[in-house]
Amino acid sequence: MLIPISSAALRENTQFENLFDTHPEVSLNFKHIQEQLLNGYHKPFLLVDSSIIRHKARRFKAALPRVHPHYAVKANPDRRVIETMIEENVSFEIASSTELDLLLALGVPAAEIFYSNPVKSRAYLEYAASKGVEWYVLDSAEELRKIVSVKADAKMYLRIDTPNIGSDWPLAGKFGTHLTDIKEIITEATTLNADLAGVTFHVGSQCRNPQNWRVGIERAIKVFSDMRTAGLNPRLLNIGGGYPVRHTKPIPSIDVIADVINEAINHLPKHIRIIAEPGRYLVSDSAYFVCRVVGTATRNGKRWMYWDAGMFGGVIEVTEGLHYEILTDRKGSNISWSIAGPTCDSVDVLMQEVLLPHDIQEDDFIYIPNAGAYTTAYASNFNGFPLPDVFVI
Ligand SMILES: *Cc1c(COP(=O)(O)O)cnc(C)c1O
Repeated sequence: MLIPISSAALRENTQFENLFDTHPEVSLNFKHIQEQLLNGYHKPFLLVDSSIIRHKARRFKAALPRVHPHYAVKANPDRRVIETMIEENVSFEIASSTELDLLLALGVPAAEIFYSNPVKSRAYLEYAASKGVEWYVLDSAEELRKIVSVKADAKMYLRIDTPNIGSDWPLAGKFGTHLTDIKEIITEATTLNADLAGVTFHVGSQCRNPQNWRVGIERAIKVFSDMRTAGLNPRLLNIGGGYPVRHTKPIPSIDVIADVINEAINHLPKHIRIIAEPGRYLVSDSAYFVCRVVGTATRNGKRWMYWDAGMFGGVIEVTEGLHYEILTDRKGSNISWSIAGPTCDSVDVLMQEVLLPHDIQEDDFIYIPNAGAYTTAYASNFNGFPLPDVFVI
């Protein structure tokens, strides 16, 4: 029998949850995992329910009717996931030639693909231009000159800095033009007669603070006005990714975030095209990640368990502070565990002091719900361990 350990603990906390979780979130039905395991277990796997991807895509569009979603391919580049997005009329955002090839092979029109990686190699730019990609992001004068030297008629959008307060993965700092540098880039665009045609920002991944989008949109509207004054023709607002999914912490639902966004874009003229780049939001809830305990040990009074998938095998986001719900088949009372992956690298430690049943042992299954994003996409063969399987229903 399945005992949802951490979720039981969480439900005692419902008063706080209700402040945030205004809409029930969906998850893959556990019976599909049981059915999959009837075929035996060979290695860690992700089981994806494509009907949940469809549901999330529809929910996103219903909440934000003026905003067209461009799925961030990096969250889960599985071909079947991409095909589901295509069927749901979701477009795409990419960072590399491999991601571009994946989409072109599935018939996605290049002109609808947004190249949203702020610093691109010249070779990748040339490749994208040769395939017909039209829209490119930049956040520096150097990148603007690079793009224009490869494709003089590129349509470009400026990634600006926004607050990442309340995001589990703050991205501010690595990317995003600082407000004081925007003028220089606008001047460079007019000097080169370049089509700097829009603004984007990224509030940080798993962002639980809807106000970050409001601030980003308000800043973008100011930049539009500076662009127009300089003689440019701004016509794209790209409000990026960051829409959160449910793990152990309460989240604002997409409807709550959409209220803030819809209000902020309400007065934008009709000719401004508005897009977003959800990654995690569209795929995370659709899948369980399943792995297995390969051994346990007691070290200096501490209990350790070792899984057959660690930070090199797909479970890497825990090392940056994501708290997954972890389910097992055991019903023993909880004790504190340290959890590590199967490799010999000392960095391959996933969690410390996690409360899980004391009777967990070798060969037990570990089930992680809502793990469809940034798991298999990150996995490597380091130390000879296999990549996880991906099954799609
Ligand atoms: C990763 C990424 C996204 C998706 O972010 P999520 O937090 O998964 O929604 C969107 N846009 C850009 C430019 C990205 O790099």
